[in-house]
Amino acid sequence: MQRDLFEEEHDLFRETVREFLAREVVPHHDRWEKDGIVPREVWKKAGEVGMFGFGVPEEFGGAGIKDFRYNAVIVEEIIRVGASGLGFSLHNDVMAPYFVDLTNDEQKARWLPGFASGELITAVAMTEPGAGSDLQGVRTTAVREGDHYVLNGSKTFITNGINSDLVVTVAKTDPAAGARGISLLVVERGMEGFTRGRNLDKIGMHAQDTAELSFEGVRVPAANLLGDQEGQGFFQLMGNLPQERLSIAVAAVAAAETVLKATIDYCRNRQAFGRSIGTFQNTRFVLAELDTEVEIARHYLDKCILALNAGRLTVVDAAKAKWWTTELQTKVIDRCLQLHGGYGYMMEYPVAKAWIDSRVQTIYGGTTEIMKEIIGRSFGF
Ligand SMILES: Cc1cc2nc3c(=O)[nH]c(=O)nc-3n(C[C@H](O)[C@H](O)[C@H](O)COP(=O)(O)OP(=O)(O)OC[C@H]3O[C@@H](n4cnc5c(N)ncnc54)[C@H](O)[C@@H]3O)c2cc1C
Repeated sequence: MQRDLFEEEHDLFRETVREFLAREVVPHHDRWEKDGIVPREVWKKAGEVGMFGFGVPEEFGGAGIKDFRYNAVIVEEIIRVGASGLGFSLHNDVMAPYFVDLTNDEQKARWLPGFASGELITAVAMTEPGAGSDLQGVRTTAVREGDHYVLNGSKTFITNGINSDLVVTVAKTDPAAGARGISLLVVERGMEGFTRGRNLDKIGMHAQDTAELSFEGVRVPAANLLGDQEGQGFFQLMGNLPQERLSIAVAAVAAAETVLKATIDYCRNRQAFGRSIGTFQNTRFVLAELDTEVEIARHYLDKCILALNAGRLTVVDAAKAKWWTTELQTKVIDRCLQLHGGYGYMMEYPVAKAWIDSRVQTIYGGTTEIMKEIIGRSFGF
């Protein structure tokens, strides 16, 4: 079925993104995988072609357009070339709402120009060694002392953890107040007591810096609190998680489509028993099933993107999109790898990299199980 999500301006932007990736990313990505990190200059170059901060108001260097279809174009193109090291979707899709919607004028002036230019790289630090799914279990504390908060705690698995300049950090400002005692503080590169630990050794996404962060008596100015008062952090996070989950779903469907297309080509050309492996009924049935499921996922997802643009995407809609598409992605890629035979296990075939890169998708941004909890709770049992 025809995909009718995009308009001409999105298609033009897609060309810009494609050209940028072909020039500045694809030739270097293998090296970045070995280095475990993407150089910061790439962020600045992406900023120059307008890849960051669509929703950032024009006066602060953005395009002033809130249209998630542009975000989707970037994610889709990055996925199609397998550039899993770029933490752009975290910056654009996850962090932009914090910096655009939750900041006051003074904070906007300080942070948004750098956000849009790619000079200030962002991250969000929720997860701790002892608390992931259970956000309310975080132990990092921020105690108010005059016009500062004193921050203590440690975080783990933080995407853009090494490269980031601004880290939205989840801390308890009132440990006795449960969800109402959590606040978001922006910790800046160079603040005394803020240190980065290891760049973690992951199964896949080797070019993406994922790190541990530590805060020991960090004096964070009260002016770096997001929102007009303490204790709003949990609700701010809950408000932004649907967009994060939708971004992950966009990546999931794009990855499934890309791998499926490559596998159909592979099956057309690979010979066994004197014929193309695509002529075996099993191959055709597997591909037919996967193609059907991916297309159905695509249409639900595109509807979710329009719902987000219209301010109607619910937490439950986004949870459905996240778990369904990411579970589908891992299934599709695994079956496609099988159809590649031994070549599927070789890193020179894109399906192999897609397989290791995809595994995390059902985990971060809220696990499949947590998504099902969210949906299940909506029945009101
Ligand atoms: C590569 C990568 C990048 C990440 N990037 C970031 C980042 O940028 N910022 C950040 O803050 N975090 C990040 N994370 C952390 C990620 O969001 C968490 O790993 C995830 O939310 C799960 O938390 P956990 O690892 O503590 O697992 P746990 O919460 O310990 O869960 C373990 C298992 O128990 C299950 N489980 C837990 N609670 C329930 C329940 N109530 N019902 C049923 N099953 C349950 C889970 O589904 C899972 O299968 C990243 C993780 C990875 C791997």
